[in-house]
Parts: sequence; structure tokens; C-alpha cells
Amino acid sequence: MSQSTPPLRTHAREAIGRNVVSTHMTQLEQMRPAGLSGLRIEAINLAPTSASRRSGVGATAPAVDWYVKMIFMSNPVPTWRITKTRSPYSKAIAAVAALVFTGLALTACGGGSGATSEPRISGAPLKVVTAFYPLQYAAEQVGGDQVTVTNLTPPGVEPHDLELTPAQVAEIQNADLVLFVPGFQPAVDEAIRAEAGDKAVDVTSGINLLAPDPTSSPGSDEDSNQQDPHVWLDPANMSAIGATVAKSLSAADPADQQEFDRRQTQFATAMTDLSKQFSDALRSCTVKDMVVSHEAFAYLAKAVGLTQVGISGLSPDSEPSPARLAQVAELVKAQGVTTIYYETLVDPKVAKTLADETGATAAVLDPLEGLVPGTTGDYVSIMQSNLKTLQQGQVCP
Ligand SMILES: [Zn+2]
Repeated sequence: MSQSTPPLRTHAREAIGRNVVSTHMTQLEQMRPAGLSGLRIEAINLAPTSASRRSGVGATAPAVDWYVKMIFMSNPVPTWRITKTRSPYSKAIAAVAALVFTGLALTACGGGSGATSEPRISGAPLKVVTAFYPLQYAAEQVGGDQVTVTNLTPPGVEPHDLELTPAQVAEIQNADLVLFVPGFQPAVDEAIRAEAGDKAVDVTSGINLLAPDPTSSPGSDEDSNQQDPHVWLDPANMSAIGATVAKSLSAADPADQQEFDRRQTQFATAMTDLSKQFSDALRSCTVKDMVVSHEAFAYLAKAVGLTQVGISGLSPDSEPSPARLAQVAELVKAQGVTTIYYETLVDPKVAKTLADETGATAAVLDPLEGLVPGTTGDYVSIMQSNLKTLQQGQVCP
């Protein structure tokens, strides 16, 4: 390899012309900032991406000089952090030494204020990555100023089929804690398996998971094999999530345990209040069947004594069969269902068509899988708005 030498810090200069291995080939390829063009990195993929795994191109056992553990990118100045560490393929590389490319990036890009990702120093906020909105909310409520939260599902994006960018995978690598619901977002599950190690926190660990309803689900294979991930729609489960989050934050940052416990108690009180609002308002609804576009509301329905009827299954993109549509239409008429609920982030066509056919009203019931862009609402206010909708839709005095 050529020895092109941009103005680098000592460690970075050492890496030039060596075999540098990244955890993901795609990160080196896609995240290589223009300013680093003078740096020749031979990327060898150690942790195969799903694409390379499918194509059979996997790990090789090269003579590795440098192992790129973390790559971090921030705007406007891209910054790489390279850690020399033990490679799974090279016992010779044992020392851990941080290589910060800030100097290079700053020089190459002509200045700016690039943030580097340093190892956490005592007192600095914990870096928490959350898979989707309700977990972001729980982390912010319980973590307060002691955390910075990065959410993987942007507002407006339906989270079931979220695809992660290389920068987001880097966020997972770089986090102190990663909060997720297994079985909800396959891409997140996979990135966590590959990159998060013991930083991953399954927030459902304190929750009794429900199996999907076999009578109502149109029954894709995926649906039938998994438990229902939509735990957050019962505020009591959110309270359990808050407890798990507090425990994990305290383990990562014992100095702030008291503060996490205090905030968790507040959060639990707020969730208990919200639960009570739901059970009080929905105590005596005339219509017990709750017809929803996809089966996100089983935990909420169970908590308030309603019965969820899903047009689609656990995932919003599973197409309902004509037989299922006919079955639901019949139930709507037979049970006097007045309202069919559709969602904010999913095409409402099927729910609206069914409402038209049956003479029911279509109304928005937000499964809180993600926020609508520009919303000023949060978990509590959106749930309260859901409560008003349900009170009217289920005809509750
Ligand atoms: Zn869902």
C-alpha cells in the first residue's frame, strides 16, 4: 500500500499502510469521510453483515495490525475514533489504545467543531441508545440529566421494518446502554446481537409477555412464532420498563443510583395514575370489541377489559386475507362496533374501507410505535388522547 501521509496524529500515522479491520465493512466503505481520502485502510470484514452472511462472504483470518472497534460520525465534521484492541483473529493485538482522528478530520475539513467519542469519564452522562419512541421516553424520564438518549426510529417512520444506517450501528457500538424489545425490530435485534454485547437491555424482562391471539391473527409465520412485543401500550408495563431502565442505569453509573431511583419512583407514580385514568374511564363500555388495524393493543385491551380484534396481525404490513376482512366486517355488525381504529404511521386504507362497508366510523388510535413528525405530544399526552378516542369509540358513559 502507498504511504500517503496527511497530517495525522501519531497513532493515526501508524495505521497507514497496515491491515485495518472494521467490525463492519460497510461502515468503512460508506462512512469514509472525504477528508480522510489520504488514509489507506484495507478493510476486512470480521463481523459479517446480514448481506455478506447471506452471500457467504464471511470472516477471514488476516494478519491484522489494527482493529477498528468504533467509528463515530458527527455533523458537520466527521470524526472517526479507532481503537487498537484485541482482534478475535490476532492475539498479538492485546493493548487497548484510543486513536482519535479528530486532528485529522479538523485539518482535512478546514476546521469545525468535531465531537469525539471518548470513553466515558466519571460524571459524564451515560450514552443511551433506544430502539423506538416509548423506550426513549422511559430512558429520558428515568435518566434525566444523567443520560443522553439517541433514538433509532426517527419520527414518521413505522418501526417494525426499520433499517439501520451504518451511523446508527456505530451508535449502538458506541453506547453505554442499548434499550430494545426483542422480536419487534429484526434489524435492531441483529445489530444488537452483533455489536451491543452486554450493553443490551431487554426492557421486557420484568413483563409477562402475551402470545398472539391465534383466532384473530391472519397468521403469518413470523406472527405465530413470536410473542406480542407491544408491551408499552399498557402503562403498567411502562412502569416495569422504567424499573428495568433504572436498574440498568444504576449498574452502569452507580454514583447516580439515588437520582435514578428517585426519578423511577416519579415515573412509576405517573404510569399508575395513567393506568387508573384508563380503568376508570373504560370501566363500563357498551362495546367490548376493539377493532384495530394491526394487533398492537392486546396489553392495553387486557388491562381495561376490552377485546382486541385485529384486522392485520402483529405486524402492520401483514396483509389481511379477504376471509379475515369478511370475518371482521361480520363481527362489526353483529357486536354493534361503532368505530374502527387506524394508525398514524400506517396507510389507513384497509381500516377506512372496512369502516365504509360496515357503516362504522374510522378514528385514529395511536400505537405509539413512533412519533408523528412535528408532534408536541409525548407518551402520556398521546395515551390520554387515545383514552378519549376509546371512550367515545367503545361507547363508555
Ligand atoms: Zn406493531
